[in-house]
Amino acid sequence: MTPLTPHADPRTGAAVKAADRAHVFHSWSAQGLIDPLAVAGAEGAYFWDYDGNRYLDFASGLVYTNIGYQHPKVVAAIQEQAGKLATFAPAFAVDVRSEAARLIAERTPGDLDKIFFTNGGAEAVENAIRMARLHTGRTKVLSAYRSYHGATSTAINLTGDPRRWASDTASAGVVHFWGPFAYRSPFYSADETEECERALAHLEDTIAFEGPGTIAAIILESIPGTAGIMVPPPGYLAGVRELCDRYGIVFVLDEVMAGFGRTGEWFAVDHFDVVPDLLTFAKGVNSGYVPLGGVAISAEIAATFDKRPYPGGLTYSGHPLACAAAVATIEVMEEEKVVEQAARLGERILGPGLRELAERHPSVGEVRGLGAFWALELVRDRETREPLVPYNATGEAGTPMAAFAAACKKNGLWPFVNMNRTHAVPACNITEAEAKEGLAALDAALSVADEHTTAA
Ligand code: PMP
Repeated sequence: MTPLTPHADPRTGAAVKAADRAHVFHSWSAQGLIDPLAVAGAEGAYFWDYDGNRYLDFASGLVYTNIGYQHPKVVAAIQEQAGKLATFAPAFAVDVRSEAARLIAERTPGDLDKIFFTNGGAEAVENAIRMARLHTGRTKVLSAYRSYHGATSTAINLTGDPRRWASDTASAGVVHFWGPFAYRSPFYSADETEECERALAHLEDTIAFEGPGTIAAIILESIPGTAGIMVPPPGYLAGVRELCDRYGIVFVLDEVMAGFGRTGEWFAVDHFDVVPDLLTFAKGVNSGYVPLGGVAISAEIAATFDKRPYPGGLTYSGHPLACAAAVATIEVMEEEKVVEQAARLGERILGPGLRELAERHPSVGEVRGLGAFWALELVRDRETREPLVPYNATGEAGTPMAAFAAACKKNGLWPFVNMNRTHAVPACNITEAEAKEGLAALDAALSVADEHTTAA
């Protein structure tokens, strides 16, 4: 363990917490039931509190600090841009904005060469759907049940997971379908090939019964993230591409979480040799140092808005500070070979290490992922695959997942926990030693989860 930072100061920590409790209204929370950790600082793959506790961040914030915290080059680029031109409205040509767009366009697949900037992922999804609707003149959108696309109105309606339920406003034209997920197959398939075929047949049936001429877009996460890091079987995304081509539907891939190196490629779709019509991104584009997201747009869809105005925009679209952070982040990723690091991390450390944990811990039902993007499905019983907590459970106090999360923290690891899953999603550039430290902490915490299995 590297030494703790000199920030240990419980009194300041208590004051920071009290100030937070006084006026900050938190996302996704019952305000009276939460007790947020007071963070004193962060560097690389770690952050620490005011009590002298340091955590290896196996959640990368909300799966976005792909190059870790406080990278000096990105911090310096933001500072330099602030001194030069801290802000400027979107209707102007600004050097750093054009440079960020060029660097992104050069890395997105195929002819996705025009970049519309937003402040984050949900706005990227909103605008991708608007573009698809205007391009096709149709309104309906198909989206997977096991998905998360953001918390603004269209994005939350597109989202399939239970976070949609409270906000679902008889979703204007959104229809959900099942994507492939061999471990909990909605199609009762025997293997991945069958799962792929059945998922594609189900999607084509959905298109047929909804009316192909009414469907503007199909949106998918290339690899669904929050919903469980389900790497699609080979051929699935190519099959969806084919269906979109056959029926004149815009194919939108949401790479907000899986993009920018997370999976060991620049974009997760690069593993599948498929090019969507629109690709949404955020998070890793600048490791979240300044809010930024966007849509990469194909030549054909961009041409729709060549003579006809695009009826959408945001005050801070392509904000210079966010773009400066993106330029510096992409440069760091090239210089330090962060994408390659993520691939190696998955192949050499996280993949083998997590599978080895699964062998020893009866609470692990399945390990899946790639790069720096892994999920452990925790179960009560490996045979029946009964989840360790029921569907739609959260990490509330008293549940086995809460006990697991507490054990992670006790062992110096900050986990990502959602329903019955924990995701190992650290910074893409963590060292081998840091990754092993994380695996050791997971090992200890899984022993706590094991106590809640039928094997105990
Ligand atoms: N799409 C995906 C795939 C995501 O993972 C997220 C955020 N977790 C979003 C969209 C929404 O992004 P944001 O929170 O920046 O609006």
